[in-house]
Amino acid sequence: MRKVSIIGLARSGEAVAYLALSDGFDVFVSDVDDTPQLRQRAQKLREANIRCELGGHSERILDADIIVVSPGVPLDIQILQSAGQKNIPIISEVEFAYRHEQGKVIGVTGSNGKSTTATLIARILADSGIRTILAGNIGNPYSANVIKTSPDSVSVIELSSFQLEAMDTFCPHIAVMLNLSPDHIDRYNTVESYYEAKFHIFDNQGETDYAVLFADQPEVASLSNQINSQPIWFSIVSEKHPGAFVKNSMIYRDQEEILSPKKLGIPGPHNLANALAAVASTIPLDIQPDSIATTLENFEGIEHRLERFLQHNGITFVNDSKSTNPDSLKFALLSFERPIILIAGGYDKGNDFHSVREIFQQKVKSAVFTGQTGNKMAEQLAKNLTHCAVIPDFDKAVQRAVSLARPGDVLMLSPGCASFDSFSNFEQRGNYFKKLVKMIISKKKISQPFRK
Ligand code: ADP
Repeated sequence: MRKVSIIGLARSGEAVAYLALSDGFDVFVSDVDDTPQLRQRAQKLREANIRCELGGHSERILDADIIVVSPGVPLDIQILQSAGQKNIPIISEVEFAYRHEQGKVIGVTGSNGKSTTATLIARILADSGIRTILAGNIGNPYSANVIKTSPDSVSVIELSSFQLEAMDTFCPHIAVMLNLSPDHIDRYNTVESYYEAKFHIFDNQGETDYAVLFADQPEVASLSNQINSQPIWFSIVSEKHPGAFVKNSMIYRDQEEILSPKKLGIPGPHNLANALAAVASTIPLDIQPDSIATTLENFEGIEHRLERFLQHNGITFVNDSKSTNPDSLKFALLSFERPIILIAGGYDKGNDFHSVREIFQQKVKSAVFTGQTGNKMAEQLAKNLTHCAVIPDFDKAVQRAVSLARPGDVLMLSPGCASFDSFSNFEQRGNYFKKLVKMIISKKKISQPFRK
């Protein structure tokens, strides 16, 4: 019987354990943590005859023909180094799932916009009648979904750089590289090694496959010289074929007019780029322009990404909890014309915020910095801002921001940082923020006229 060891028992680890079991593997799962939730999960797995260990990685992992790592598990941990020395193949959860894929795959990666664009592509496909599966880094493990694939289905898979590190045969028919900007400096030693990890999305592509590339970013555009697949371009500023671009205030897919950018359901210049990437991805597929236009108009984005969740006393409240790096903060600020009351800060990944400074100075009326990065962000962004506060406690920071907001303002949480200093993940942070705002405004009237 073939043996597989799985590292990490979060959602993806659990899903891949069941997939491997159904495939006839003898399965062993190991997690460094030992929480009540993991114990419950492990108990269920044991009942299905899957062996588990919690609270550390033992040598038992090495008794395997193959090791599958969950997303988020660093590849340089001791046990994986030992596995490497014993020549045990190490693959990612996505690679394991891919070996069961029956249909076509569209892979979506980049530093920002992956979830938004992958969701939009999946909507466009589904709305045009194609059997579509949306999975991967988006919080819906590929391993739990791959059994639904068939020769006529298309799987749209969101891929993080971590997932792309341990691929072997993974080959998307269409690979989308949205953009590249520095991130995850805590995990990668250099920006180049982070970019290199992302480039693995093209490794197995051949001449009959496609690479959707952002023409406006030299780091992405120059990839066309290094890949074996056919480039398809997307651009906000230039007309490039084959591709999707803006011309005469219209979005085009090569010769076909699709829609005015003004009619897009998602705001901001970055979302125009995401929409163009989605349109470009349809070039190798048979999808009518009208159908694409309808989906683009109706798609209002996804939760926690520039989510306009409340209008109250002339103030628009926006939850952008998924903003976890400087670039996403920058684009969030670019997405609104009205004065912004910003709440930013969180877990310190080692990022530098100087690149956001200019936009910040133009757009932000008042800022409250919170979390681990609070002081650093205030220092790098807001030196001369009158209304700027550093309040490490999240609740108090939100309270202060709400007290500063006036009719006509946008009050936005766009942290520019991960959430792990105070929350388990960005979803928890976003949900908590929305609840907190609603609680604060239900107790307190904030419609006083502006007073300095
Ligand atoms: P990802 O899955 O890559 O993290 P999301 O679609 O979840 O991307 O968006 C994450 C954050 O990045 C959000 O705050 C969003 O407003 C911002 N964002 C989305 N698309 C882009 C883009 N193309 N460039 C820069 N920032 C973006």
